[in-house]
Amino acid sequence: MKFLADDNMEGRDTGSPGLQRASAYVVDQLKRAGFQPAGTDGFYQPIKFRTRELDEANSSMMLVQGEKQQKITLGDDAIFSMRVDLAPEVNAPVVFVGYGLRIPELSLDEYAGLDVKGKIIVMFNGSPSNVPGPLSAHYNSGGEKARLMRELGVVGFITLPNPAAMDLPWSRIASSRLHPAMAIDDEKLNDSRGIQFAAGWNPAKAEMLFEGTGHTFAEIAALGKDRKPLPHFDLGKSIHAKTHVNSHKVESSNVIGKLPGTDPKLKDQYVVLSAHMDHVGIGEPINGDKIYNGAMDNASGTAALIEVAKSLKGVKPKRSLLFVFVTAEEKGLLGSRYFAAYPTVSIRSIVADINTDMFLPIYPMKSLIVYGLNESTLGDEITTVAKRDDVATMDDPEPLQNHFIRSDQYNFIKGGVPSVALKNGYEKGSLEEAKVKEWSHTRYHAPSDDLQQPVDLSAAAEFERIVRGTMIEVANAPARPEWKADSFFKRYANEQAAGQ
Ligand SMILES: [Zn+2]
Repeated sequence: MKFLADDNMEGRDTGSPGLQRASAYVVDQLKRAGFQPAGTDGFYQPIKFRTRELDEANSSMMLVQGEKQQKITLGDDAIFSMRVDLAPEVNAPVVFVGYGLRIPELSLDEYAGLDVKGKIIVMFNGSPSNVPGPLSAHYNSGGEKARLMRELGVVGFITLPNPAAMDLPWSRIASSRLHPAMAIDDEKLNDSRGIQFAAGWNPAKAEMLFEGTGHTFAEIAALGKDRKPLPHFDLGKSIHAKTHVNSHKVESSNVIGKLPGTDPKLKDQYVVLSAHMDHVGIGEPINGDKIYNGAMDNASGTAALIEVAKSLKGVKPKRSLLFVFVTAEEKGLLGSRYFAAYPTVSIRSIVADINTDMFLPIYPMKSLIVYGLNESTLGDEITTVAKRDDVATMDDPEPLQNHFIRSDQYNFIKGGVPSVALKNGYEKGSLEEAKVKEWSHTRYHAPSDDLQQPVDLSAAAEFERIVRGTMIEVANAPARPEWKADSFFKRYANEQAAGQ
């Protein structure tokens, strides 16, 4: 972690020399651990990206209501989102669509009776309380939302953060808006194709959108805080946006190593451990520091996997072990998206993915959060392994934040692979929860996520023990993990099987 989060790595931005140095270090560690290359170019799997960089001085946004034109202050009122290819000019009416969800399984359709074709939809982040976490996560994912918008003929969207569930203060969201965004330079893998406009709105400035509608943002936020159903209505205004976006090509690589299994039948199957190596690079200085070191996010996860790899000398697992260190997670899970689309071993041969992203060893580990705990038998295996050390497993305590789809495991899930992501646990209302909240507010995606912060090494060691133990159990078990019969995500495994 000291090496990976050193200032010399310059925050490991995708495509940067700093991330290249960090990746070379990971390759070197894998070689020392006796791993074999399993990329497309030795240990590397190079990926071509293109950047999206907003030329803000030549971009503008207006809120138009009849004769009245209100200039939107970029950064303060709203920001353009670079997760889509912004059209140079967009002029379209805005309509409020609540959470913007259509969930056939629950007969929930927030678009029923609304005319959204050719319009910009305004969505409040989250979901009503009758929507279970995994469904909420899936239908709130960028890919699913974009697919629905294409189907509805929507021009673009504005997201309103839920003030009760923001893990980043607006100031930090606004200050990172000029970081270059990226897309995989492969139109097949462009999930937001066809969407022409995207913006995020400062919740403290959101009343201006609702003026004159008979509704207020305060009312919406109060309902959203308790995950109550939201109203849907025309906002009686339109957005007129002009943007200038620059782009250039960037290359960055995943790093993949394997330890071959020893069982003649099972060695063609793989247990994957994954972690992202990249972070957000150099940015807006905070307290005079401009290097966003990403020590917890995710030098810690990368280091944990390296430690597990180094501990495997002399271990002879039945199934093969595949360590996948991905790039461009911070750009929208792009490295894992690419790996799942172009896997270096057949995706069907991957029996499980255990992902580690920012597991926060900042207090002693009493429990372990398992995102996806109840979705597959992999959750049960982790529970068994953790119990040996008196560590209890628990499901996501923050279902509103969509953690299950917010890191690289999601691309494995969509490939049909039973997957989990793990994190140091905390109970609601506990001292540990307060520490996590405090950490998020002060250090998450800030330069202070660096090597000066306190680390609980006992928690890190416990975490590694559980990850390693689970991996060995899965590698040696007679049967591969399976999705639970009632898991929503089982459908991807079925699609995968049908496609073969
Ligand atoms: Zn991360």
